[in-house]
Amino acid sequence: MTHLDHLPLPVPLVDLGFQHAAINDEVHAGFDRVMNNGSFILGPEVERFEGAFAAYCGVEHVLGVANGTDALELVLRAARIGVGDEVILPANTFVATAEAVLRAGAVVKLVDCDEDFLIDPEAVRSSVSVHTRAVIGVHLYGQMAPMELLREASGPDAFLVEDLAQAQGATRFGARAGSLGDAGGTSFYPGKNLGAYGDGGAVLTNSDLVADMVRALRNHGGTNRYEHRFAGLNSRLDGLQGVVLSAKLARLDGWNQLRRDAARYYDELLVDLPEVVIPRVVEGNEHVFHLYVVRVPHRDRIVEHLTKQGISASVHYPVPVHLQPGFADLGLPRGSFPLAEHLSDEIMSLPIYPGITTEQQDRIVTALRNALSLHRQRAALRAVG
Ligand SMILES: *Cc1c(COP(=O)(O)O)cnc(C)c1O
Repeated sequence: MTHLDHLPLPVPLVDLGFQHAAINDEVHAGFDRVMNNGSFILGPEVERFEGAFAAYCGVEHVLGVANGTDALELVLRAARIGVGDEVILPANTFVATAEAVLRAGAVVKLVDCDEDFLIDPEAVRSSVSVHTRAVIGVHLYGQMAPMELLREASGPDAFLVEDLAQAQGATRFGARAGSLGDAGGTSFYPGKNLGAYGDGGAVLTNSDLVADMVRALRNHGGTNRYEHRFAGLNSRLDGLQGVVLSAKLARLDGWNQLRRDAARYYDELLVDLPEVVIPRVVEGNEHVFHLYVVRVPHRDRIVEHLTKQGISASVHYPVPVHLQPGFADLGLPRGSFPLAEHLSDEIMSLPIYPGITTEQQDRIVTALRNALSLHRQRAALRAVG
């Protein structure tokens, strides 16, 4: 016996073990196929996955690329959006959304979000200018941005893009993420709801033109060897990742349901903690809880307290895009996007993944309850003293 035997096991933010176990045999058989036929880049396993994911999402074309950032860049380039064009996106996203716009050569035009962390269509409406060519709806944390409102606010000429890196399988009024914009980009980073065993991503579109362009651009600007229609890039999905993604896609709906079940259980456990604001599912949305994000007072101290108890709470994201040092060139001071800034000080992501147990969730919420009551006591003491 060591003192460690008395401590509960730590709870990570994400645990992929449950998913690995479910697909292990299928993945090994598929890896053998790829190694035997040598189709390591694109090839039949990738095509099989692209077809299955297109059918699942209800889109004409899926094109596997190297990562989610490339997917968004390629979408913009395929739509011939670049130098001098403005692209509108929310200030509270993972930095990759903004990087993709810059790498396409276009101008990043940030807007604020709403109370549900989603891009605010009214903010989009007031940001549209004669230079606006595209608007990116980011389906943050696992639920879809209101695409129909964004379409209306963006005007008839804007190219509407979905960033569905955090929302594979989510729906809005029954339509899957990736099927409502003019094109979408997604990521298969291992921790996403549909994750590869390494980097990966995909472009989704109903447009034959965009699909044709991306098919060429991702492969040095051409689909025939040594014929380069454009100066493209090297951004292709690996055969091994095609195997993993096909196996996981077949289980995605079940795993997303487990995430929803876990979210509902958190909702129940947190109901009597008035300081904690639980995530809201927007009307019309089926949420896939890539992250379970609550709002709490004294966020940094609460996260620290949980970490000391072995619970990996995290923050997505602590600093909005315009306040990141790398985006100082945008010239947008604090105060530019009040809600995104305010929320970034209060948000905290609790562990969620398929396979998390109710016992783990009980422990997480007990630790959170203790942390909050400690801070309540301290605040009361300060008020007295
Ligand atoms: C993960 C993510 C990306 C980028 O994906 P990579 O595969 O890491 O390049 C883009 N947007 C959002 C919202 C993401 O969460």
